[in-house]
Amino acid sequence: MTTAYIALGSNLDKPRAQLDWALRALASLKNSQLYQYSSYYRSAALLSKDNPTPQPDYLNAVAVLKTQLVPLDLLDALQALENQRGRRRDVKAWSARPLDLDILLYGDLQLDSPRLKIPHPQMYQRDFVLYPLCECEPKLILPNGQRLADLCATPAKQLSQLS
Ligand code: AMP
Repeated sequence: MTTAYIALGSNLDKPRAQLDWALRALASLKNSQLYQYSSYYRSAALLSKDNPTPQPDYLNAVAVLKTQLVPLDLLDALQALENQRGRRRDVKAWSARPLDLDILLYGDLQLDSPRLKIPHPQMYQRDFVLYPLCECEPKLILPNGQRLADLCATPAKQLSQLS
C-alpha cells in the first residue's frame, strides 16, 4: 500500500454535502483504505485573470488514503467521482465546481507527465491544502525539504477551520 494525500474542494451545490459524499466514496474506493481526513476549511475562491468573476467560498479538506492503485488509476478513479457530482470539463480553468479531487502526494513519487504531476504543482502556495494536510500529518517533510509544520506555524490568513 502506498500513502496518497488527496485534496478535496467544493464551492457549488452544497459544498459540505459534497465533501461528506466524497469522503464516503473514498472510503469505498477499490484496493484502497481511507486512513484519515482533516476537518473542513473555508476560504475565498482564488480568481485568475482569465476568470475574474467572483465565486462562492470554497470548502476544502485533505484525506489520507492507503492505496494499491497506481497513480493514473487513482486519478481515473478520482475523476470518475468528480464526474458523478456533475463536474464539467468544458468550462474555463479556475471555474466554480461541485467537487475537485487532486492528488497532492503519492508516496515519495515525483512525476511530471501531461496528465498527472506529483507533487501537485500548486500545493506549496495553497494554505487551504497545507493546513488541512498538517492537521493529518504534522511531522511531514515535504518533497522540497520544507517541514510542513514550519509552513503552518502561524494561523492561516483568510482560512477558517470549521467544526
Ligand atoms: P483541476 O481543474 O485542478 O481539477 O485540474 C484538472 C486537470 O489537472 C486534469 O486534467 C488532470 O489530468 C490534471 N492534473 C495534473 N496533475 C494532477 C494531480 N496531481 N491531481 C489531479 N489532477 C491533476
